[in-house]
Amino acid sequence: MEPNPQPERCAQLQSALLDWAAGHLRPLPWRTTPRDPYRVWVSEVMLQQTRVETVVPYFERWVRLFPDVQALARAPLDDVLKAWEGLGYYARARNLHRAAREIVAAHGGHVPDDAEALRRLPGVGRYTAGAILSIAFGRDEPALDGNIRRVLSRVFAVAEPTRPRLDRALWELARALLPTGRAGAFNEALMELGATICTPRNPLCPPCPWAFACAAYAQGTQALFPPRAARKPTPHYDVTAAVIWREPGVFLVARRNAEGLLGGLWEFPGGKAEPGESLEDCLRREIREELGVRIRVGERLTVVKHAYTHFRITLHAFHAWLEPGEPEPQALDCAAWRWIRLDEAESVAFSAADLRILDALRRSSQVASPR
Ligand code: SF4
Repeated sequence: MEPNPQPERCAQLQSALLDWAAGHLRPLPWRTTPRDPYRVWVSEVMLQQTRVETVVPYFERWVRLFPDVQALARAPLDDVLKAWEGLGYYARARNLHRAAREIVAAHGGHVPDDAEALRRLPGVGRYTAGAILSIAFGRDEPALDGNIRRVLSRVFAVAEPTRPRLDRALWELARALLPTGRAGAFNEALMELGATICTPRNPLCPPCPWAFACAAYAQGTQALFPPRAARKPTPHYDVTAAVIWREPGVFLVARRNAEGLLGGLWEFPGGKAEPGESLEDCLRREIREELGVRIRVGERLTVVKHAYTHFRITLHAFHAWLEPGEPEPQALDCAAWRWIRLDEAESVAFSAADLRILDALRRSSQVASPR
């Protein structure tokens, strides 16, 4: 490892990367000239854990719907979640929305250009603040996302044994390498290099502009960087969901409480099966706890497999009908509930797994008369 690259080596790396970027930066919709702080902020949040190809159409739609901070702050949360539907990690959308309202209230509707104010906004961590400050405001600030971590750890063969020590070493490197006055262009170039050349698997080393200096390439050890902690097995849960029919074509959806996983989204009510519990018993129990009503469980509609960050689920969706009685607000363990028709579902924000239940409903011949 070369913990403190000499100024001469820094200069070589800077010019090689910036020269390469001049011909290789993809024209992405947030790369306007000059860079717009709102677009940079939104794109950086969308790109967390998500590939560029996935983000582009979401971003384009987002800026049509919410072209600036004021428009985002004015929008109802439902519209914001709908625009995010399918992108995952919904806390990001809720935080963008809350942060936009704070920016309007405290910063006159302008994304703040100092680190402290940025870091106080919901959902803005060290990386996002560094990216906004350098790319949108031209500040000499490092930004260390997953792509940059991978590139730097390979080039300098950084093999610290723990995540905090590794991150500290990489943040120091990211700062040491910054070319004065060109940090934004440099950070963008480094992100691009990680996304298109120094990929997690099979990096394209021969045409890489940093091949001349890369320790992992020289040693053939690219796959060892960044070092990974041993992974625990991902837990799996069986989860049930009910499509509760009031009459042919009209079914119940419930809104999740605002905080927590998928907070604020609409869903088919249900929940996780206890050990040894049948799926039907699970569904009856969950609906009683969530909505305060009893249901009769009918045929299975579909089975959906879905992976979240820390666990996987198999979601079993059943047709169901209410036993006499309406859902009781005082018994609710959800934010709200409503009866809707399938065509109305287009305007309601669902999670990816629930969207697949909707797909199954659209395909189902039972939609009109499930009984
Ligand atoms: S030479 Fe290979 S491993 Fe090193 S930075 Fe370039 S692409 Fe990554």
